[in-house]
Amino acid sequence: MNAQDRDKSLLNGMADPLLAWYGEHKRSLPWRDDPSPYHVWVSEIMLQQTRVEAVKGYYARFLTELPDIQALAEVPEEKLLKLWEGLGYYNRARNLQKAARKIMDEYAGEMPADYEAILSLPGIGTYTAGAVASIAFGRPVAAVDGNVLRVFARYLADPTDISEEGLKKRRKNEIEQMIPKEYPGIFNQALMDLGAMICLPNGEPKCAECPLRNKCRAHKEGRTAELPVKAPKAERRIEEKTVFVIQYQDKVLIRKRPGKGLLAGLYELPAAPGHLDRKDALVYVEELGFRPLHIEKLPDSRHIFSHLEWRMRGYLVRADELAQKAGVWQQEKSCRLETPESIDVSYPIPSAFAAYAPYIRRKKED
Ligand code: SF4
Repeated sequence: MNAQDRDKSLLNGMADPLLAWYGEHKRSLPWRDDPSPYHVWVSEIMLQQTRVEAVKGYYARFLTELPDIQALAEVPEEKLLKLWEGLGYYNRARNLQKAARKIMDEYAGEMPADYEAILSLPGIGTYTAGAVASIAFGRPVAAVDGNVLRVFARYLADPTDISEEGLKKRRKNEIEQMIPKEYPGIFNQALMDLGAMICLPNGEPKCAECPLRNKCRAHKEGRTAELPVKAPKAERRIEEKTVFVIQYQDKVLIRKRPGKGLLAGLYELPAAPGHLDRKDALVYVEELGFRPLHIEKLPDSRHIFSHLEWRMRGYLVRADELAQKAGVWQQEKSCRLETPESIDVSYPIPSAFAAYAPYIRRKKED
């Protein structure tokens, strides 16, 4: 048997044990209770960069506020971003809304069932389109993400670098030749669960519990530790900054980020480049137009984005009177003073500032 035929025979032997295993071990997830196109879509977008356990709460809250595509299309952006606060990668939320508006305009408010039509919606890539088409509409389409690439690299003992261009498409074609036509959504979810619970990344996969162990080549050949092959990522850029919680009367200064780029259009705590010592921090606050009466160093923190790491130093500053240069901050149209309650309700602060968020609510006597 040549290598191609051997892979084909392995692939054809995959579905039955996988489906049987899924029947007994599938994860109970809220979006699986009623897998409507909207539910599958929203959950898959949330799950793109966030752990399942963390998504559950956001998902419930999101659906309570925005129960259908029309509600999502019509919600004001700031409320939408507030619902997304903490999930990060806010463009996902903006794209959800753009897609919802397109569905309202072009598909009379109903998610299209066709894979290509789903794929043409903003923010939806091949994986999500495959998940929605197969799970919500029973279309025989694959949903290939990093988990699926890892399972297949091991199952076939394929040393191809999983970041290699073209591999995803090849896997998609292979899966679509063998995906059970009656249960495409269940098959895709079974693969997702296997990747999440058994064929784990970084470390030992739980081969002893795996329904594919009798056929899996990496397991048979003792090569699970070396697969999948993945080229190392480019190093992250480090950016140092100093974050300020500036309290004036019962309000806190926040600032809107530029409309383009990282965390576009979100509100943040004002921050200066570099790690400022106490003296320079006071100068910065005065330059903004406040007279600092009290300054307190806050714990250092860091936040990791995919390509960038922020290393932050923080200060809490109380400024009971505006300095002579009063209003400097007001000239920057992006800045505003808001109460902690109003920030909580209306101004989404990205989770990158999570270490400093509790100090927004800190009262003078605390
Ligand atoms: Fe992954 Fe092990 Fe199962 Fe192979 S046998 S698919 S390596 S968990």
